[in-house]
Amino acid sequence: MKAAILYQPHAPIAVKDVEIEDPQPDELLLDIVGAGVCHSDYHYVTGHRTPRRMPWVMGHEGAGIVRSVGAGVRTIAPGDKIILSLDAMCGSCRNCTNGRPALCETYPFEAMSRMTQDGEPVYHVRPTFVEQTIVLADACVKVPDDTPLEQACLISCAVITGIGAVVNRAKVETGASMAVFGCGGVGLNVIQGGALASAGRIIAVDTVPYKLELAEQMGATHFINSAQEDPVQRIKEITGGGADYAFEVVGFPAIVRQAIDSVRKTGTAVVVGVQPTGQDVSVEGWHLLEDRTLMGAFHGAARPRIDFLWILNLYKQGKIKLDELISRYRPLDEINEAFEDMSQGKVARTVLVFD
Ligand SMILES: [Zn+2]
Ligand SMILES: [Zn+2]
Repeated sequence: MKAAILYQPHAPIAVKDVEIEDPQPDELLLDIVGAGVCHSDYHYVTGHRTPRRMPWVMGHEGAGIVRSVGAGVRTIAPGDKIILSLDAMCGSCRNCTNGRPALCETYPFEAMSRMTQDGEPVYHVRPTFVEQTIVLADACVKVPDDTPLEQACLISCAVITGIGAVVNRAKVETGASMAVFGCGGVGLNVIQGGALASAGRIIAVDTVPYKLELAEQMGATHFINSAQEDPVQRIKEITGGGADYAFEVVGFPAIVRQAIDSVRKTGTAVVVGVQPTGQDVSVEGWHLLEDRTLMGAFHGAARPRIDFLWILNLYKQGKIKLDELISRYRPLDEINEAFEDMSQGKVARTVLVFD
């Protein structure tokens, strides 16, 4: 089967034939149907984040159909449709039992190898830029048979990360104002989450006019092109002193600083973007002292087995948008072109599809 492999940062991804093992106990083998091309993958190409081990098999957002299961897998069977959770959930650690399974403490997010290329191991956690993948059953959410996986694959990462940051983590109140720095795949879902939460004002901030247009489709009410004007100043003007919430969805410490600087006294800045490996975030101490909160939101504080089904229902009811998030579909072979589109700001999301 084919897999998209990163051999070193700053080099094109290679799509290669690889051998995949049979699933071990508590694992299953999945045929990938749809895989969203997320900026977090591109971070490995640009060197913003360092892969755990190379050669690295790419992708983390995806959905598929179970081909076979290892010993001990009882709740999932061959033929079932699955949306992958970013996180494996043991169900028994403190965070899992406390309703915070996205930060399960049992499963380390460590590189493993169940695939070889020309006899040499290649490494991965739960790759999706592959025709088939091996994953822990504990990282899978079984979904109804009528789920359209080529669209629903986005729920795996972008949709829950954005909506969950608003609804699960920040718990934005009805009527609150919120600013969203970065209107890519996740940022658009923060906006969509704000609309679900009945936020009063949703201020979209980006440097790409096309993304600000998408932001309007997803429910943003105000728009700031931060290449042309100071977003902090504009947010203060629009909100009369500062937003109640600001979400950083780009992944740079300087933008975290802008987010906290743009919330009012008592406001909350939420770090959603994947920050560069090893870098600090700095804020003005006095700003925190004025009852401001700086919080992180990992994977939308998701409870995937509840939230994914909730989001699927909202989609069926027309209350959230998935199709509008997908700018184009491409085959796996076009992964480099998909990253190129992303880096140029031409797409919200590309979905890789498999025959
Ligand atoms: Zn992602
Ligand atoms: Zn756990």
